[in-house]
Amino acid sequence: MNALRHNRKGFAFFLLACLLFLNACALQTGNGAGSAEPQANEPIGKVYYTYFDTVSYVYDYAGDSAERFEDRSAEVSHILLEYHQLFDIYHEYSGVTNLCTLNKAAGGDALEVDPKLIDFLLDAKEMYELTGGEMNVMLGAVLRLWHDCREAAEEDPASAAIPGAEELRQAYSHTGIDLLEIDPERHTVRIADPEASIDVGALGKGYATERAAEYLEREGASGYVLNIGGNIRCIGDRPDGSGWATAIRDPDNSTEDYACRIRIRDTACVTSGVYERYFTVNGRQYHHIIDKDTLYPAEYYTSLTVVTRDSALADALSTALFCMPPEEGKALVESIGGVEALWIFPDGTERQTPGFAELIEEQTES
Ligand code: ADP
Ligand code: MG
Repeated sequence: MNALRHNRKGFAFFLLACLLFLNACALQTGNGAGSAEPQANEPIGKVYYTYFDTVSYVYDYAGDSAERFEDRSAEVSHILLEYHQLFDIYHEYSGVTNLCTLNKAAGGDALEVDPKLIDFLLDAKEMYELTGGEMNVMLGAVLRLWHDCREAAEEDPASAAIPGAEELRQAYSHTGIDLLEIDPERHTVRIADPEASIDVGALGKGYATERAAEYLEREGASGYVLNIGGNIRCIGDRPDGSGWATAIRDPDNSTEDYACRIRIRDTACVTSGVYERYFTVNGRQYHHIIDKDTLYPAEYYTSLTVVTRDSALADALSTALFCMPPEEGKALVESIGGVEALWIFPDGTERQTPGFAELIEEQTES
């Protein structure tokens, strides 16, 4: 890791976005490429570009045979593909009733779906309750307005605009969580309002990551790291017990440095940040995490990191805490237990749980 310390300012932006610093890694693209035999203490890995509109990595530090890694990474890939298809709100797939199908059928009949989608949506409702409605998968009508403005701004930056306040208020009246009707016995789901829609951007990746981690744990795997678009999940520890160093990016766009580096094992780490997806109108940046109380991008923080074992919880909380004032967020974190968090404010100051501070191994020099 020494080389990393000396060079960190020069690090490719891409690696920082991926958060995870890995030493010499034999990384291969997915889709059938064979794996090299691992060197001592070096991971083997695979990368996939086709899931959740992001980059996914599977690393194996356990020194498994190439064959075993091939089998396990193939199953992880299969799990990610399955959830990618179920959660897609823009495309449908033959033989799959997914969120796109459900959104299209809003206001109509209940549809029978894969039990996996039922389990997920029940979890999503639980996350809504847990976060006091801050993370709401039924916010689709509002998120779509922001999404359309962001896309239009990318096409034609000169005429970029934000949604109107009245339009947002109108959309918000179609976001009640009870509009999502789930029948676990019949395996059916119905969206009760034709104007309402589901958007699982805040939770889907973390949930799928956790299902893949669960599979690896069932297999008895240890020494694996999943990085699914920045949702990091460590399965067990490195064989030598040293854990993994993960960098939390400095949300200040003018630097490619990192805010801090933490050492983690057997846990998940997820960051939500203003730099991830945004567009600019009249010199002002509008990012992609929307506060239900204002219907505009949340303004409390520039970055929020959650470390907790369950990657789905980490993902849901990273978005929810982003939309909550510090005292409320702190109270929520304490009430759940086993959750560590780092809040970075727009003025660059930070706040962290005591347990998070214990994970930090190096602060940036200023
Ligand atoms: P990312 O997926 O980019 O890492 P997040 O986990 O914070 O970041 O999720 C942001 C995504 O979640 C947005 O792109 C949007 O689809 C959705 N979203 C934004 N605000 C909310 C909210 N308050 N509740 C539920 N979903 C949200
Ligand atoms: Mg999230």
